[in-house]
Amino acid sequence: MMIRNFTSQELRLAILTNQLAITLQPKVCLKTFQVIGYEALLRWNHPRYGLIPANQWIRIAEERKLINHLTSWLISQIATFLSQSDSPLPIAINISPASMTIPYVNQIIAILRYHKVPSHLITLELTESLKVENYNIIAGSINMLRREGIRISLDDFGTGYNSLKTLVELEVDEIKIDKSLIQSDHPNSTLILATLANLAKEINIDIVCEGIENNTHLNRAIKINAQVGQGYLFGKPEPINHPLPASAAAKQFA
Ligand code: C2E
Ligand code: CA
Ligand code: CA
Repeated sequence: MMIRNFTSQELRLAILTNQLAITLQPKVCLKTFQVIGYEALLRWNHPRYGLIPANQWIRIAEERKLINHLTSWLISQIATFLSQSDSPLPIAINISPASMTIPYVNQIIAILRYHKVPSHLITLELTESLKVENYNIIAGSINMLRREGIRISLDDFGTGYNSLKTLVELEVDEIKIDKSLIQSDHPNSTLILATLANLAKEINIDIVCEGIENNTHLNRAIKINAQVGQGYLFGKPEPINHPLPASAAAKQFA
């Protein structure tokens, strides 16, 4: 169910009263099948509408100018979690293009420093469908984050009209190929996958494939030499206190 009419107060209250749940989905090395990190995905446990996935309300949070508040809360929670872990694995956090401004990037860096979290443990996943007119500001923000040691991933890669332009103009560490390409049987998708993979190799950036649900999807990811995979085949998003341990995926595929 789409909820379109929640207020800013409702979302602020959701944060304050623990209605937002953080889940972690494992990211797996496609050579060893070890868990090498996680992606943080938000759920809203709404008192009236039940459990609502993020894609049904993140856009509204962006429109209501609440996204930075929300992202700061999430980064603080993840930083606390990482600082309390004995052997922490990197965690990827989704970031809205609207948040990629110099003042807000400074805030992200300040939160991580406050919690004393090594910046290499954080990847920010930025959706690839960016508005071209914001490129300069976004490029400056990306450079600042990368200088700090934070990794940048281009999410939903291959779905926008500007994939190649984005890749050429923004300096990123990895592309995350959209699940629609990995899951498609269409010959054109195979061609696009191979082209993207060649380009990524050429400019020396990592490839992550999301939406791997079965062996067919897994084989497609392996065929294009993707380093990392993510999807229900390896593990679904689980509550942050019960993430899949590093050895679990390896056991399944050994
Ligand atoms: P995304 O970043 O592309 O996240 C991947 C989505 O695919 C997640 O949906 C995940 O649960 C789902 N997924 C993972 N593996 C599989 C699979 O094998 N098969 C299928 N069919 N789906 C799979 P989710 O959790 O509903 O998140 C949807 C979108 O909401 C995310 O897409 C992301 O764009 C956004 N989102 C989630 N959390 C946040 C957040 O904290 N901040 C921001 N800005 N956006 C967020
Ligand atoms: Ca993502
Ligand atoms: Ca994605």
